[in-house]
Amino acid sequence: MIIDDQHYDVILIGSGAGGGTLAAALAAGGKAVLLLERGSVMPLADQNVADVDLFRKDRYHPAEKWFGTDGDPFAPQTIHAIGGNTKIWGGVLERMREQEFAGLALQEGPTPAWGLSYADLAPWYDQAERLYRVHGRSGADPTAPVRFGDYPAAPRPIEPFMVELRAALERQQTHPYDLPLTWSESPVDPSGDAELFGVDTARASATVTVREGARVVQLHVNPSGREVRAVEAVIDGQCWLFRSHQVVLAAGAVATAEILLRSATEHHARGLANGSDQVGRNLMKPQLTSIIQVAAAASSGRYARSLGINDYIWGDKNVDFPLGAIQSGGGVLQDALFAESPPVLSLVSRLMPDFGLEQLASRSITWWAMSPVRPDPHNRVTVRGSRLQIHYAPNNREAHDRLVYRWIDTLKAVEADPLTQVVKPSPTHPRGEAPLSVMGLACGTCRMGSDPATSVVDLQGRSHEVANLWIADASILPSSPLLGPGLTVIAQALRLAETLQGLL
Ligand SMILES: Cc1cc2nc3c(=O)[nH]c(=O)nc-3n(C[C@H](O)[C@H](O)[C@H](O)COP(=O)(O)OP(=O)(O)OC[C@H]3O[C@@H](n4cnc5c(N)ncnc54)[C@H](O)[C@@H]3O)c2cc1C
Repeated sequence: MIIDDQHYDVILIGSGAGGGTLAAALAAGGKAVLLLERGSVMPLADQNVADVDLFRKDRYHPAEKWFGTDGDPFAPQTIHAIGGNTKIWGGVLERMREQEFAGLALQEGPTPAWGLSYADLAPWYDQAERLYRVHGRSGADPTAPVRFGDYPAAPRPIEPFMVELRAALERQQTHPYDLPLTWSESPVDPSGDAELFGVDTARASATVTVREGARVVQLHVNPSGREVRAVEAVIDGQCWLFRSHQVVLAAGAVATAEILLRSATEHHARGLANGSDQVGRNLMKPQLTSIIQVAAAASSGRYARSLGINDYIWGDKNVDFPLGAIQSGGGVLQDALFAESPPVLSLVSRLMPDFGLEQLASRSITWWAMSPVRPDPHNRVTVRGSRLQIHYAPNNREAHDRLVYRWIDTLKAVEADPLTQVVKPSPTHPRGEAPLSVMGLACGTCRMGSDPATSVVDLQGRSHEVANLWIADASILPSSPLLGPGLTVIAQALRLAETLQGLL
């Protein structure tokens, strides 16, 4: 065991949307920060500027196995790298809608109220959009919450065939809008992420130390169990102990729960900070189905997501419960999630038998249907010995099915419209649902709340039980944001940075 000499103000564990953002914000305040990240810098060739290689199933799967509800092992799609899952995300950064904070009446039951309101997070959303240079247009989406300024930058131009498709969708009385996207302006790495806007900024500060390849395995507490005294990490096969005044977990919804569960002591027999028995529970990931349309002409297959349609977000004709959102996919060669839908690809290849993979991709237009789920305490992360187990059964299924069929009907109407030239009428619209292994949008496993009996951290992200322990990642979200968790994780990290600056 090696004990590091230095005593830091803050140790951050994980460098994704939460940890990377927090690192940048704390660096600006001159704090001595140690950032421990399990992965290392991801080569540009492996990032979301992709090619046909994307379809190699193991590309975005680390060399580890988790165990599913049935006990069978699976390879999770999740990234261990500086920047975490933001290195392969779609980059759509949406604010939660006001109603979501109060709790939604889903078809299968309510989602919880957050204890925070939209107004509490709005200033942090403003900051988050500035930091991540979000390109969008205020007022374009009728369901968007109130905002007091425009986006930092105007939307990116979209592919010409998407411009035509947008007009075709408007003729079907839907309201497509430009998705707000983080964008770097760099020609070699155009999409924004937590490495560029978080860790790179932090590294420029003399007070920040980044240790790559540092896998945190356990937190050690003082005899009363009220304070974390050391963070144990494995680096190059060696055990290290690091010390700091404050410790922030930002290892993502699965790993943060795992670290707490593996840090059980006499005082915290069920796992550290787990008096409520909520650590690992309420795992949520949105229901995601990709749907394919056949394009009339070939495209590059390499372009970002562009259009959102929220016409069914709160319901539909004769349906008064939320169904979810539709987003155009990125080019099939660029959208990492698509790589997880091989059944869709095999169907498309039957529709277009003479095409190679590259041609296939260039003739496909993808859509994502995304529906919310309820937090369910039985959906959970547990550890048994060295095993990490995920018990997960998606809920709110009927709403998702309705959304998928509604969207396919809309696509058919678009294709039947003689004014629409960019898509081909198709007898079938191949689709595939993201499997259990798609874990990159997971959240909820260490929910925040004001009641220590039902939550793990308070509304700032501080453990109810361990005074110097905080969480700043997607695990604290009490419900799964309808339009993606990314911006809310970033906003919450910025909010926590202010609290920590005041303490140190
Ligand atoms: C393909 C894909 C597309 C997505 N698209 C979107 C989108 O368009 N919009 C959106 O809002 N969201 C999107 N998401 C989800 C978004 O990326 C996540 O919600 C967000 O990154 C969560 O942030 P986080 O800080 O909780 O975790 P992460 O960003 O996953 O970061 C966790 C970090 O912790 C590190 N870590 C894990 N274990 C340890 C350990 N033991 N020790 C040290 N470090 C550790 C990991 O290596 C990682 O760097 C997408 C995700 C994926 C995978």
